Amino acid sequence: MFFPAVAVSGMNPAEIRKNHPDLLKPDGIICPDMRLAVSEKIIALTLDACSGEYDQKIIQILKKNNISATIFAAGKWIDRNKNIFSELAADKLFLIASHGLKHRPCFLEKTNVFGISGTDGIEELFEETAGNAEKIEKLTGIRPVFFRSGTGWYDKNALKIIELMGFIPAGWNTPANDYSEKLSADIIIKSLSLACPGSIIIAHLNHPSGNTAEALEVWIPSVIRQGYKFVKLGEYRIICTP
Ligand SMILES: [Zn+2]
Repeated sequence: MFFPAVAVSGMNPAEIRKNHPDLLKPDGIICPDMRLAVSEKIIALTLDACSGEYDQKIIQILKKNNISATIFAAGKWIDRNKNIFSELAADKLFLIASHGLKHRPCFLEKTNVFGISGTDGIEELFEETAGNAEKIEKLTGIRPVFFRSGTGWYDKNALKIIELMGFIPAGWNTPANDYSEKLSADIIIKSLSLACPGSIIIAHLNHPSGNTAEALEVWIPSVIRQGYKFVKLGEYRIICTP
C-alpha cells in the first residue's frame, strides 16, 4: 500500500485554531478532479453509500468478477445497513472509506449544494470527518484513511483542514452518472466507458432500484477484455488534476 492502512489521529479543532488560524476563513468552493498517478491500464472503482438502501446486485457482480472497489460509507447509511456494512468491511475485495457522518458537503460557513446543507465551521467539519471515522473504527477495528464529503464539494481551506485532521480527501474524474434511479443503463455504460488509465470512477451503492448493476454487468467484462486492472484506493498515489 502506498498510504498507511490505518489513518493517524490528526489534529482536533482546538489544535487547528491554534496552529493554523489562516485556514479558518472560507476560500472558495471546489469539487476536486482526482485520478491515480499511473499510465498503465489501472483504474479504481469507488462506490458511494450515501443514505438509504443497499444494492446487493452490484456487490454480487464485483465478487463474481473478482473486482476490487473502495466503498465510501456515510454514517447515516451505516446506521441503516449495519449487518451489510460489517460483511462488506470483512471482505478483502473491498476497502472501507468514509463518506461523512451525515453526508454533508464540507464548508467553513453555511452553504448549500444540490439542496444539501454543508458543515458550518470547523466543529461541524470535525464531527463529519472524525465522527464518522470513529463510527467505522468501532464497527470494523480500522480507522478509515480516505474521506469523501457528501456531494464531493468542499471549501478549499476545509480540504486542507481535513488533511490536518488525519484524512486523505478522495475525489474522482469519471462519474458513472448514476446519481438518480431514473438514469438508464445505457447512459451509465456510456459514462463508464470514458474510463482511461488512472481513472477514479464514482458509482452509487445505495440505489437498488436504479440501473448501476445492469450497467456494471455489461461494462466490467468489456473493460477486463481491454486489459484493465481494478485497484483499491491507496495502492497508487492520487493526484489532483486542474
Ligand atoms: Zn454521497
